[in-house]
Amino acid sequence: MHPSKKVMIVTGGSRGIGAAVARLASRRGYAVCVNYHRRRDAADDVVRAIQADGGHAIAMGADVSDEAQVVQLFERVDRELGRIDALVNNAGVLETQMRVEDMDAARITRILHTNVVGPLLCCREAVRRMSPRHGGQGGAIVNVSSVAARLGSPGEYVDYAASKGALDTLTIGLSKEVAADGIRVNSVRPGTIYTEMHASGGEPGRVDRLASAIPLQRGGTVDEVAGAVMWFFSDEAGYTTGSFIEVSGGK
Ligand code: NAP
Repeated sequence: MHPSKKVMIVTGGSRGIGAAVARLASRRGYAVCVNYHRRRDAADDVVRAIQADGGHAIAMGADVSDEAQVVQLFERVDRELGRIDALVNNAGVLETQMRVEDMDAARITRILHTNVVGPLLCCREAVRRMSPRHGGQGGAIVNVSSVAARLGSPGEYVDYAASKGALDTLTIGLSKEVAADGIRVNSVRPGTIYTEMHASGGEPGRVDRLASAIPLQRGGTVDEVAGAVMWFFSDEAGYTTGSFIEVSGGK
């Protein structure tokens, strides 16, 4: 435990945007729980990088779509880092590009479980710790959505885009529900960012293919997204809740 540090959980902190958020949060003084699903090795690398930088982090495995694992994750953080101040719902998945007419229910359900049920469960556990109704002292939550919620991802993954639309509605509703409890809930909507996620969709080179169609003419970096996420946790954002920052190069 580091009583002087604020505590943050980053879901899907092992790779991509989540790993960048975890590293930046540590530099801003947070003790960080780097959650992962399957890539313990990658989560351990993030923790080692944070420790080498003088920060404090621990790696914890949990599938955010599984209620029992989410409950265990938050209970372990209570014990090992202390009561959380900040949650970043970053874990998210997409699957092979295809049209809706070719999708089966199992795939759609997997997407919705990880991208919608997962953040809802993590928000529930966070509010149970942050709200004064439960002895908490407030806090802040950032949900990592996508401009796909606005664009719809036709021909690629409408299921994924729909899950991000649901996440945006969660941000709006929960922000109003818990504002009087001193909990702010906001969202960052990345555009096309260089991570391994595009390989999950079957097109590792997707960012470069789309670059010329992005007004700023390039893909974004994970650090550019992490900066926006961390702004929502800053004192400057104290009057901002239910709000969205797009990090999409103008797309
Ligand atoms: P990524 O590189 O594919 O990393 C995904 C992360 O999520 C990994 O840490 C992975 O853990 C974790 N994860 C996946 N399923 C999980 C589960 N069930 N439980 C816990 N963790 C799980 O993805 P990314 O590009 O950084 O994306 C991060 C977020 O940004 C996602 O919500 C994504 O929708 C959003 N986003 C990304 C882009 C983009 O262009 N990259 C654009 C818009 C929005 P393991 O390492 O253990 O597998």
